[in-house]
Amino acid sequence: MTGNLGLNKPSSPAKFMKDHIISPMKAFQCCMCGECCYGEGGIFVEKDEIRKIAHFLGITQKALLSRFCEEKYGRISVKTGPDKFCIFFDKITHCLIHPVKPKPCSLWPFYPAIVSDRENWEMAKDACPGINKDCTFEEFISQAH
Ligand code: SF4
Ligand code: SF4
Repeated sequence: MTGNLGLNKPSSPAKFMKDHIISPMKAFQCCMCGECCYGEGGIFVEKDEIRKIAHFLGITQKALLSRFCEEKYGRISVKTGPDKFCIFFDKITHCLIHPVKPKPCSLWPFYPAIVSDRENWEMAKDACPGINKDCTFEEFISQAH
């Protein structure tokens, strides 16, 4: 004799997962505070990023470089505006180039130096309110992409 142990047959494996498996806590969720877009840190841009950003903004690469970029330490970086925020930061709409933002911006806070060093992760938590303080370091690194 077989029984179903009182369980209703799930309509699909995906539904079963959704109903019975608890999702892990998110180790990072950006709250758009803009903290990481402030300061003279220097967001470096690579050649292919310059091409993509220029295309996204509908301007030439030359115009992008002269209006929004500068050379720093022998590399090209995004300028800082008079308010000390990145030139592409808008207080209402946030990053004006979000779909094509440079690698350091899309990678943050999962920088190699942070996912490989617990102390750096502790410091990053103080700097970025989007890093979930209830998550462990192990949970954080397991969610690095
Ligand atoms: S500091 Fe963190 S939470 Fe704030 S905008 Fe940057 S990534 Fe998002
Ligand atoms: S490019 Fe966008 S995400 Fe990166 S610092 Fe500037 S405004 Fe912030």
